[in-house]
Amino acid sequence: MFDFHLHSNVSFDSKVAPQELAEAAVAAGLKEICFTDHYDYNSDPLKRADLFTIADYRAAHDGLQLPGLTIRKGVEFGLTRWNAPHLKELLGQYPFDFVIGSVHYVDGYDPHEAPYWQGLTVREGFEKHLLETLRCVQVHEDFDVLGHLTYACKSRHNPTHAPIEMTDFQEIIDEILLCLIRKGKGMEVNTSGIDRAGAFLPAAPYLHRYKQLGGEIVTVGSDAHYCARVGQYIPEALAMLKEIFGYVCTFEKRKPIFHKIP
Ligand SMILES: [Zn+2]
Ligand SMILES: [Zn+2]
Repeated sequence: MFDFHLHSNVSFDSKVAPQELAEAAVAAGLKEICFTDHYDYNSDPLKRADLFTIADYRAAHDGLQLPGLTIRKGVEFGLTRWNAPHLKELLGQYPFDFVIGSVHYVDGYDPHEAPYWQGLTVREGFEKHLLETLRCVQVHEDFDVLGHLTYACKSRHNPTHAPIEMTDFQEIIDEILLCLIRKGKGMEVNTSGIDRAGAFLPAAPYLHRYKQLGGEIVTVGSDAHYCARVGQYIPEALAMLKEIFGYVCTFEKRKPIFHKIP
């Protein structure tokens, strides 16, 4: 089992040391994990920039070993329309194994927080985030997988707590998926949506569509920020991927490795 989306205390919003997360991963029966600490470079100086320094990253992650566990080093980079040069610069400073590109902000506002939703219906809120996701994947080249497509639905400010139905936004979704496929990028199945919105981010229909259009690269991650969530719903995500693809990917040195799901 693999968990390729974990936040240690190198991330602004986690307090857990990498060692503790790694021990939790072993306890959860995982064979391989990847730390993907937040690096959100927001070009609007009035908005938050949640960054780490390479020195802090190295101090936390370099040299960490645990018997029976393979540990990869990655980053969850917050994609914006303007920060592609910053991602390139970051990648020049450290040999990351894996880069998740995630869209956390639209015009400086995070759907996870209330101000984003001001004046928007639920549908408008979903659509706005999906359109921004499309713009971001169009301008970025240096990520490996798109993180948590349908992120907006897991917000505690989504009054319906319902997932985003693919068919409600089929045209935008197809454009996003086709852009990813054209660029050889993968899709993440993020399990953190199960408790918040009752679905993986994204759910099975999106993965079917990605495959149907020619997509091949899929990873799984819990997005855990504390130990109890490490590996959560990963068996369920793998069961879904087994049905659709028959395999799941991990990454080493930015290259996908395909694992048949038994
Ligand atoms: Zn994220
Ligand atoms: Zn995350």
